[in-house]
Amino acid sequence: MKTQKNKTLYWLQSGGCSGDSMSILNLNSPDLFSFFSMLSIDVLWHPSLSTITYTEHDQMLEEIVAGERKLDILCVEGNVVMGPDGSGMFDTFRGKPKKDLLQQLAQVADVVVAVGTCASFGGFGSYEGDDIAGIGLQQHHNTQGGFLGKDFHSKKGLQVINLPGCPIHPKALESVLNLVARNLPVELGANNTPKCYYAPTVHQGCTRNEHHEYKVEENMFGEEGCMFFHLGCKGPTTHASCNTHLWNDVNSKTRAGVPCFGCTNTTFPHPSPFFETPTIAGTPLHLPEGVDRAYYLAYKDMAAEAAPQRLKKREE
Ligand code: SF4
Repeated sequence: MKTQKNKTLYWLQSGGCSGDSMSILNLNSPDLFSFFSMLSIDVLWHPSLSTITYTEHDQMLEEIVAGERKLDILCVEGNVVMGPDGSGMFDTFRGKPKKDLLQQLAQVADVVVAVGTCASFGGFGSYEGDDIAGIGLQQHHNTQGGFLGKDFHSKKGLQVINLPGCPIHPKALESVLNLVARNLPVELGANNTPKCYYAPTVHQGCTRNEHHEYKVEENMFGEEGCMFFHLGCKGPTTHASCNTHLWNDVNSKTRAGVPCFGCTNTTFPHPSPFFETPTIAGTPLHLPEGVDRAYYLAYKDMAAEAAPQRLKKREE
């Protein structure tokens, strides 16, 4: 085995759009390259960042798979392409299904990280009738298992760490790599997502919370009120830190007047239309987590009556 003091990271690009790679390039304070350097992470391969030759890459992969070169962190971006007919030949590497390479790398990696919703839960191209027949690494929508199977554990005894998001927020990857590189435990919550980034909901920290409380609602994008009741905002049922770790440190969808469309959720992209709120008898079908429907309805109607004029008039 080639000795290497630093942590090593291999980034496998699978059935995805590269949006997660583009997103992590926006990491700042520190920037991505300083971040890797500070944590002594050697990026063995990333399709957008690496400059090694075709031959060097092949040689390196041979050594990793043979166990002659250590692989500390395997990051997978995009879902595992199984089409057509389970062959995986819609996504190949050197003429063979890329899913085979993924299987080999996952067996020798200390830690496996699913980067983005497609890698975590299937995401785009993962629904019945989708030709690529994509599936998540260890979860398919709400069902544990995915490509690697529910009993899979990495060499360090860990299940796949899911970092959903379409794209992933750079802070989510930063938080997790920071722990992994320091050999610290990553506490996982629902759907094997790290609590350090995915415990809050998008609703928490939204600047429209007061409008939500008083049911001051919008029908048009770009206005000031809450977008839960008509515009399909999924902030109260979506776990991510978008409103506590702002994008580019300045903004989020809801702050810009666009509803959260739940891109970290296990069933994203939803089969139902975006930007519409499904209702029962005029009230949202999906209420904020843990809320009793009867109490919610009574409370909301009273709250709407009590809404301050400044909110109704959209004044600061
Ligand atoms: S816009 Fe969405 S996230 Fe913001 S308060 Fe309303 S429901 Fe919550």
